[in-house]
Amino acid sequence: MQKQIVYLGLGSNIGNKIEYLDSAIEHISRNSKIKITKKSSYYETDPMGYENQESFVNLCLEIETDLSPVQLLEETQRIENTLGRTREVHWGPRTIDIDILLYGNLVIKNRILTIPHARITERAFVLIPLQEINKAIVIDNKRIDEYLSEIEGQGVKRIENE
Ligand code: AMP
Repeated sequence: MQKQIVYLGLGSNIGNKIEYLDSAIEHISRNSKIKITKKSSYYETDPMGYENQESFVNLCLEIETDLSPVQLLEETQRIENTLGRTREVHWGPRTIDIDILLYGNLVIKNRILTIPHARITERAFVLIPLQEINKAIVIDNKRIDEYLSEIEGQGVKRIENE
């Protein structure tokens, strides 16, 4: 399989969120088939969906990989499980959530994977870090700044000196 450029979205909202994120990044970097090429800043984000929970810290990574989309999903889920993610409440508290945002130019829609990720274009906490690492990204013929101009800021703040 040819190497692909892939964007991952990471988020955490329990305990030491930055430590969980760093630990997830460390696990990702240990995979010999994944090379991390860019990392965004850390962003603090108000919770969405289920609001009675702590704020999230989110970031995006650009990686190069020759893992297939399903192999990559298996790897990200293995890391989520290793870091003790709980799935009791849909959109509820989680130690670490890793989403495959974009995988090259692939469009996938099946039982286990939707790529580009289903809600990517509505979520400032994904779009803002993604734009930071690559302003040229186009999703469905639209640039990130065009999507961002259509949604509210949604309380996404860059964390200085994390
Ligand atoms: P979530 O609770 O949002 O992390 O959803 C986890 C489920 O979403 C997993 O069972 C995946 O099979 C599914 N899924 C669909 N598309 C994606 C994607 N692009 N990245 C990660 N998980 C995905």
